[in-house]
Amino acid sequence: MVKRAAVYTLGCKVNQHEGEAIKQLFRDAGYEIVPFNECADVYVIHTCTVTHLGDRKSRQMIRRAVRRNEEAIVAVTGCYAQTSPGEILDIDGVDLVIGTKERNRIVELVEQARKGVGVSRVHPRKEINEFEDLPFTETSTVRAFLKIQEGCDQFCTYCIVPYARGPVRSRPLAETVAAVKQLVRRGYKEIVLTGIHIGAYGRDTGEYDLNTLLQELVKVAGLQRLRVSSVDPNEITPDLLETLTRESLICPHYHIPLQSGSDTVLKAMRRPYDTEFYRRLVRDIRAVRPQAAITTDVMVGFPGETDEQFQETAAFIEEIGFADLHVFKYSPRKGTPAARFPNQVDARVKEVRSKTIIELGKKLWRQYAEQFVEQSVEVLVEQESDDGWREGHTGNYLKVRFQDDEEKLRGELVTVIPYGVNDGYLLARRKTLYVKR
Ligand code: SF4
Repeated sequence: MVKRAAVYTLGCKVNQHEGEAIKQLFRDAGYEIVPFNECADVYVIHTCTVTHLGDRKSRQMIRRAVRRNEEAIVAVTGCYAQTSPGEILDIDGVDLVIGTKERNRIVELVEQARKGVGVSRVHPRKEINEFEDLPFTETSTVRAFLKIQEGCDQFCTYCIVPYARGPVRSRPLAETVAAVKQLVRRGYKEIVLTGIHIGAYGRDTGEYDLNTLLQELVKVAGLQRLRVSSVDPNEITPDLLETLTRESLICPHYHIPLQSGSDTVLKAMRRPYDTEFYRRLVRDIRAVRPQAAITTDVMVGFPGETDEQFQETAAFIEEIGFADLHVFKYSPRKGTPAARFPNQVDARVKEVRSKTIIELGKKLWRQYAEQFVEQSVEVLVEQESDDGWREGHTGNYLKVRFQDDEEKLRGELVTVIPYGVNDGYLLARRKTLYVKR
């Protein structure tokens, strides 16, 4: 009888990819992967702890698994497992807790687990020192997400990630280059480099860094697009800036977390830069790539953030003219310094501030997108529907839709000319079909 496993993943893109990799480990061991709402012999909940909602949702899914089949082995992994194994083991029915280390041994550990005997395999941060390779999983046959780095040593005062994911560990340089070559051979046109803090890539080795890696990767024959998912401002050294802006293979899309536009708040967050540094960095990027997309993360409601400081943030965002924003409301995380700071901001105030910045972000996105109307842009087609609509992203990460029922275009880089901006995407026509009046 084939054993069935069900995996439920919460949280960020990196976590989602790890969840798919965990499914692959069970498939490789002969398990059938079934939907989480079906009866299974093993349930894995790959948790998130970035906000208290992540913890609560993780507990809900754990309890749901226990109720679904009392005989099943229930295993809990991921960030919440790493930071709070005791809380999880207190939930009746949990048999195994695996933190940020040994996820690649999950099948073996599940098969060793005994129903009703809750075991924690969570290791302290100081014992987490290797980059753990999990199977590559195909979430798209057009764009490949390659995790090159794990962990963080920066300890921003609001962030639980360094406690949940451990210290910086990098996928070895040669292995990363080999992995990209293999993905290109498999037909991927775009490789997205992901991780928890990829600006720190190689720091654990002292031998190479992100710039070294990028300079190797742009030499990979057949690679069409290289996308760097996120780099902190202070890690964009002059050399890295040169590579990021001058190598045509590297997408003109830079996700550079700002977090706050107030220098006072940045200091309290222990972010290692100020707004003047950020402003200069953006100016230097635009000096080489004037139409590049600069996107960012912004946190509102950090303890002590005054109305004036919030207005500074809004004004700075407007001044920079970001192409897109990810907005987060500060969420106190047990064990982080900021959770003990005075002047915690009221939830209703956070809500108002978050809405304000989200609306600002929509306005700035539209301003950014509109500059490409009537301009040729290159789209990597990711989706096709029977009614002839094609969808994909430009190099600067604008979503584009266009109609063409002539050819199969999935996985192709196609030149189109946008004629309008819709809610969240550009409407365009194929250049060949487009007759400029
Ligand atoms: S750099 Fe700061 S915000 Fe980012 S993961 Fe590390 S501690 Fe968290």
